[in-house]
Amino acid sequence: MSTERARIEIRGIEVEIVRKDIKHLHLGVHPPEGRVRVAAPLRLDDDAVRLAVVSRLAWIRRKRAEFEGQDRQSRREFVTGESHYFEGRRHRLDVVESTGPTGIRLRDNAWMEMRVRPSADRDGREAMLYRWYRARLSERIPELVAKWEPRIGVTVAEWRIRRMKTRWGSCNPDAGRIWLNSGLAKKPVSCLEYVVVHEMVHLLERGHGDRFRGILDRVMPGWGVRLEELNRAYLPDEGWERVEAPTGDPPPSGTRWATTRGPPGDQAGQR
Ligand SMILES: [Zn+2]
Repeated sequence: MSTERARIEIRGIEVEIVRKDIKHLHLGVHPPEGRVRVAAPLRLDDDAVRLAVVSRLAWIRRKRAEFEGQDRQSRREFVTGESHYFEGRRHRLDVVESTGPTGIRLRDNAWMEMRVRPSADRDGREAMLYRWYRARLSERIPELVAKWEPRIGVTVAEWRIRRMKTRWGSCNPDAGRIWLNSGLAKKPVSCLEYVVVHEMVHLLERGHGDRFRGILDRVMPGWGVRLEELNRAYLPDEGWERVEAPTGDPPPSGTRWATTRGPPGDQAGQR
């Protein structure tokens, strides 16, 4: 299906327009930041789209206010009863104060037990959970990289896990290095695998253009399903996680994409 993308500003709101061979216009406001996206039939011109958006401005503003409200509630406290996710499953946290061993274990499919020192504060509990996420990812990633290196025809010199606010992954093609977001531990493994493959393909092709898509389609047919799941598995209480399908467009600033850009301080991969 041929698609065409554009961005216009309507009454101070940036609207992303995707024109497709469809019959009806679809308007969506997407968390976390209330991005407005319109899928419009090819025959509709900008003025018609503008009109459709203006007629729904009140609704758009209401949705955005809702997301902001969710965002404010999104600060986790890491206390007993709170929901936390691992590999796509929701677990209830059970915080147990311990003077003995500390750490996290999954007690069953429902409970995640966190043994902490009585003195552990919120930040300490959060840090423990992220150390545990990193450790779980560190067990998964080597087998995924090894599985995909021959299929894609690249060698990953190094992979790293870090907390990133706006990206699932990034890479430095010159160094053969990929970075993965520690939050991926919350997502189904199929989503982690998609991000690993996406970043590995960037070692061959930096952009998100036809060549990138061509390689992705060849090595991982049906990758779109995984990407949708990554987006569908979006959890409002997490506040920030969303990635876009690769397209030929450069990512606009402030939008959540998995891009080729390295994290701050790792600039070599940027063009
Ligand atoms: Zn990318």
